[in-house]
Amino acid sequence: MLHSMADRTRPTPGRDTDRDPANRPTVLVVEDEPALLALLRYNLESEGYRVVEAKNGEEGLTLIRETKPDLVLLDWMLPFLSGIEVCRQMRRLPDLKSIAVIMLTAKSEEADKLRGLEVGADDYVTKPFDLRELLARVKALQRRLELAPPAAAQADAPAPAARTTLRFAGWSLDTAARTLTSPERREVVLTTGEFELLSTFARHPGRVLSRDFLLETTRGRESGPFDRTIDVQVGRLRRKIEADPENPQIIKSVRGAGYLFVPQVVSS
Ligand code: CA
Repeated sequence: MLHSMADRTRPTPGRDTDRDPANRPTVLVVEDEPALLALLRYNLESEGYRVVEAKNGEEGLTLIRETKPDLVLLDWMLPFLSGIEVCRQMRRLPDLKSIAVIMLTAKSEEADKLRGLEVGADDYVTKPFDLRELLARVKALQRRLELAPPAAAQADAPAPAARTTLRFAGWSLDTAARTLTSPERREVVLTTGEFELLSTFARHPGRVLSRDFLLETTRGRESGPFDRTIDVQVGRLRRKIEADPENPQIIKSVRGAGYLFVPQVVSS
């Protein structure tokens, strides 16, 4: 079992991983328990990630600003500044909004998980967690980030594939630049999870999409019986794109079935 997982998680992630360590995707682990921190570091480095560590929330926030990691593994219970507060503060800063965040929560903190998603975490893993599952989640988020446009450092690289812009109800979603522009031409910042969800909706207009489908498509995993990840993220998306989030016209709920993306979509 362990072996098959190890095989499945090869090769190591990221562009040019073997050639230049500086190009490895960076994961910041914010965790106050030294043994867990060491375990996470060892396993993430084995998978080809560059790992930066913080032992409390304050240090975590500082390192997020300074190192701009690709992904943050953020413990919920932290000294000085809780994980949720770190997440809330980083999401307020425009250049930190698109960094992927996975919250590590304890089993008894069901309501907290939802609060974590509400303040902008992309995913969560419950402690005590299965290390393989955590690595799979990190990898799934990482794969999505690799679809993002090349960084400035790679400006000399060949031009990226043709851009695709999805337009609906006055909005335009640039799936290459991962930007959303409102009918008033204002840029609306989306977290990684919100972007994935909205682009999945916009690629399937006029069809009822189940929570299972959405979770699998946007996160690469199956839902548990009480998984409210998608509902929470739909709520967040509605607050960003609906004129009246309480009476949504773009993403409608279909009772017992899932969600329907109502507007017509034109892609260019
Ligand atoms: Ca802790």
